[in-house]
Amino acid sequence: MEQTFIMIKPDGVQRGLVGEIIGRFEKKGFSLKGLKLITVDRAFAEKHYADLSAKPFFNGLVEYIVSGPVVAMVWEGKGVVTTGRKIIGATNPLESAPGTIRGDYAIDIGRNVIHGSDAVESARKEIALWFPEGVAEWQSSLHCWIYE
Ligand code: UDP
Ligand code: MG
Repeated sequence: MEQTFIMIKPDGVQRGLVGEIIGRFEKKGFSLKGLKLITVDRAFAEKHYADLSAKPFFNGLVEYIVSGPVVAMVWEGKGVVTTGRKIIGATNPLESAPGTIRGDYAIDIGRNVIHGSDAVESARKEIALWFPEGVAEWQSSLHCWIYE
């Protein structure tokens, strides 16, 4: 089953949005497979965002991610990468639709509360980076009430 990497950024943790965000993924029907509160260092944040290293906002982005603890998660379910991005909303919160996490809880692009993998392949890489210890293997007893 498909998995994605979701991270509640330091602003989301500071603003008390952890429960709300987890609730949205849970209520959708996705399964939580990994979860930890972790403060990462510069080198780790640079690795996570390596694809963006040439961007003018890269330094500020890394500063933002290391500024406090983040909640790193692995969520599993059919189409979870694409649907997870829809639940999160557009990168710039001014353009994120109301009802999405960024649309409901953020204003500035550099304080947009949450990260989600953009493709199955990047999800695989990000899960390996953030959860080298592996993730939980379990199946919800609600499975047959969510999938036909
Ligand atoms: N970002 C920024 N300024 C920009 C573009 C992006 O500060 O002009 C930050 C923003 O926090 C975003 C992150 O860099 O979430 C990663 O950018 P990406 O394009 O991968 O957006 P995402 O996949 O998070 O929607
Ligand atoms: Mg991205």
